[in-house]
Amino acid sequence: MGIRENVRRIINELPHGVRLLAATKGRSVDEILQAIDAGVDLIGENYVQEAITKYSEIGNRVEWHFIGHLQRNKVKKAVEIFNMIETVDSFKIAMEIDKRAKIIGKIMFILIEVNSGREKQKAGVMPEDVLKLAEDIYPLEHVRLMGVMTMGPVVSTPEEIRPYFKLTREIFDELRYIYGDEQIKYLSMGMTDTWKIAVEEGANIVRIGTGIFGPRK
Ligand SMILES: *Cc1c(COP(=O)(O)O)cnc(C)c1O
Repeated sequence: MGIRENVRRIINELPHGVRLLAATKGRSVDEILQAIDAGVDLIGENYVQEAITKYSEIGNRVEWHFIGHLQRNKVKKAVEIFNMIETVDSFKIAMEIDKRAKIIGKIMFILIEVNSGREKQKAGVMPEDVLKLAEDIYPLEHVRLMGVMTMGPVVSTPEEIRPYFKLTREIFDELRYIYGDEQIKYLSMGMTDTWKIAVEEGANIVRIGTGIFGPRK
């Protein structure tokens, strides 16, 4: 099936209030424009440089979220083009975002990335450390914490991911209780094979790549 049909089908299946983020790493501007044409209004990119190149052609007709691992030396550029950084996992990187956002007079929307599978080599904050990080980030004037994101471990059947999504949802609910639901709005989880489970567990952003564009080369 083509990109257009894939986007239409997914949008039709998504419950009201759940946003589709098209994960576009490695996809061409042409492919992305087809997806936008079919109704995508939110793009997720993993690499700042790749995003800059595409942004120069696509611009802000769509919303841009950063979903990769953010290095300190890329924060300046990231803050310039992205509407949200979904992968904040240290106070150090949050402070750098705050500093760069302040310089250009922006308030940068962010999510905390949760390492819900507690995997040593993986990005994200350990589940028990999220509230402390949120507390540290909260006073930063040019950063606004808006929720949490998780990848979860690689699983052999989609159902196996459910406990990790449940755990992330619990953390999301705790943050909502502490900071209020005007502030904490987004729970970003679920990919091509797992988005339906993520939606059942409360996700309101699902990040889909393969399911829109086909297998990555
Ligand atoms: C690539 C990617 C996705 C999408 O993965 P698919 O399995 O292709 O849908 C979602 N989230 C992140 C952070 C990604 O890097």
